[in-house]
Amino acid sequence: MLCSRFRPSLLRPASLRLVGTVASRRTDVEKQPELLSASLAFEDPRAFRVKSFWELLRALGVFRLCSFPVLVNNCGKLMSIARTLLGRRGFSLVLRPTVYAQFVAGENESEICRSMEKMSSLGMRPMLAVPIEEDLGQSAGEKRYDDNMEAMLECVRMSHSNAWSKDPMMQLKITALISPELCVRLHRSNCLNNYWEIYSSSLPFNAMIFFFFLSQASVNKVRVLGDAEYTYMNPALSLVTMAMMKKFNQESAWIWNTYQCYLKALRLSRTEPFCLGVKLVRGAYMDKERKLAQQEGRADPVHQSWEDTNDSYNGSLNLMLEAIAEKPEKYRIIIATHNEESVRRATKRSGHLGMDKDGGSVCFGQLLGMCDHVSLTLAQEGYAVYKSVPYGSVDDTLPYLVRRAQENRTVLQGIRKERDLLRREFKRRLGLSGRS
Ligand SMILES: Cc1cc2nc3c(=O)[nH]c(=O)nc-3n(C[C@H](O)[C@H](O)[C@H](O)COP(=O)(O)OP(=O)(O)OC[C@H]3O[C@@H](n4cnc5c(N)ncnc54)[C@H](O)[C@@H]3O)c2cc1C
Repeated sequence: MLCSRFRPSLLRPASLRLVGTVASRRTDVEKQPELLSASLAFEDPRAFRVKSFWELLRALGVFRLCSFPVLVNNCGKLMSIARTLLGRRGFSLVLRPTVYAQFVAGENESEICRSMEKMSSLGMRPMLAVPIEEDLGQSAGEKRYDDNMEAMLECVRMSHSNAWSKDPMMQLKITALISPELCVRLHRSNCLNNYWEIYSSSLPFNAMIFFFFLSQASVNKVRVLGDAEYTYMNPALSLVTMAMMKKFNQESAWIWNTYQCYLKALRLSRTEPFCLGVKLVRGAYMDKERKLAQQEGRADPVHQSWEDTNDSYNGSLNLMLEAIAEKPEKYRIIIATHNEESVRRATKRSGHLGMDKDGGSVCFGQLLGMCDHVSLTLAQEGYAVYKSVPYGSVDDTLPYLVRRAQENRTVLQGIRKERDLLRREFKRRLGLSGRS
């Protein structure tokens, strides 16, 4: 299993370092036979033919806005000024058909169903996510956790009862159910071994509600993917997730953990006696991690460059794919990235290892409204691909939308390419280009 340096008890002698040498990984991939379809070059704007004219225009407009650093860096402030000036209703009227519609599925079940049905007709699977963002100092009391719990159970029900996907998954922010303060306390208490025993004996009632939530999800056969957040919370989030894995993942991976490859300390071991579900991401909180480390005079926990993060991602990916090839019933992975090269690498390597495109152990994930050219192409090629789908009111999804805008700044390559392809499809429809 993968684990961070904050959890030394989980590092067994048999554990393997996740990240090998760059040279050995490159040679690995170069040696593989050419197994890829030409469409995995992701150069074909025809992937966007399924989008309406308005959807094309909206995506172009939103990505254009995200290309202005001043807007992106200040979008939180700008949105709250706009909300004050326009009022709640006016603000919602502006945001709903534009930024909100690009990244959020809707507010109520009928809106969400409409978006999801379209998505499944295109071969993509929704992975619902209740976008609750909470950081230290923002906890709003136990009532808030009860409300969140209800929202999460509703998410399980929707994921289970609608036939959108043959293997439903949902994303979970654990800090929506357990306070960030408690996560930090758990981390500081330095008791991160014997996870289930510690978890069940030392956490307050609130945390047992979390256990109840997961039992509901597993009874309904919905896989729950716990998100990774900041390094000061992650060890506790991993502790809780591992405790739950130990309880629920005996036969199959119902609970998954997320591993952020931008972190310098990331390891793989394959010694745990339960099934392991891995959401492999690069990591979303780089700017804040760096700022905090600097303020506190700590070493930066994030790799120095994108290339180092990429090496870590590729190394982790290879090792997980090899683990899956050996024991497909024990390991599962969602390759959660918009990066075309990572996606190509995964398709190539899994093909080389003889895995089915939709065999159940390997799937891909992108966020709703981002890099649809990658998701649509993968789906058309027969791979299992999930879109992370947040939903909720404009007010509830605002912090998520702010993060999405900021993330668009870091996912530079993918977004530039998507914009080019959108433009080409747009021109084709206007009859301005004979191409594609
Ligand atoms: C389905 C799904 C679920 C996700 N869940 C989570 C989650 O639970 N927790 C979480 O943290 N993130 C999550 N993410 C977001 C993810 O971590 C990335 O922020 C996002 O996907 C962009 O990375 P990329 O691989 O798609 O794109 P790329 O463009 O290949 O990479 C961008 C990423 O590289 C890293 N990076 C960029 N510049 C540098 C630098 N100078 N030095 C070091 N590293 C750098 C950053 O992580 C940045 O986000 C999720 C993403 C998806 C698609």
